[in-house]
Amino acid sequence: MSYPRDLDEYDDEELKEELARRADLTKKKLCTYCKRAVTAPACRFPERHKTGKNGKGGKIKTPVIVVGDTAYELTEAFCEGALACHAGVPYNVGNPYDDEDDRASEWEYGHDLAGGSKEDNCGVEFTKEQAEKALAVAKKRRL
Ligand SMILES: [Zn+2]
Repeated sequence: MSYPRDLDEYDDEELKEELARRADLTKKKLCTYCKRAVTAPACRFPERHKTGKNGKGGKIKTPVIVVGDTAYELTEAFCEGALACHAGVPYNVGNPYDDEDDRASEWEYGHDLAGGSKEDNCGVEFTKEQAEKALAVAKKRRL
C-alpha cells in the first residue's frame, strides 16, 4: 500500500484480510490504527481507544492535551505525574502507582510531558498552573 486507494479499488480478499487484521488487533486490545494498547493515549482515532474508567470506548469525555498526533487525557494520575515533575520528583522514584495499574503509565506520560521542552512537545507546554487546574477538574469529575 504505497499510495492511498479508494475503498472500491480493494478486492474482496484484501478487505477480508483487513477485517481479520483488525479483529486480531481488537482481540489483543490494541488500537487498529496505531497498534498501541487501547489504554494508551489516543491517536487520531480516539474512538478506538478505551477512555475513562468504564472503558466502553466512544467519545473522549476527559479533557485532553494534544501533543503532535497524540491526545493525552488529563486524568488525575497524568496531572500528578506532571506536578511531581514540576516539583523536581525524579521519574524513577516518584510514581506512586503499581506497574500493573494503568495509572502508572498515565503518571509517566504526565511527568514526561511536563519535563520535556516546548520543542520536545511539538510547541505544547504543560505548566504547573495548567496541571493544577486540570487536576482539580479531574478530581471534581470523580465526585
Ligand atoms: Zn490508536
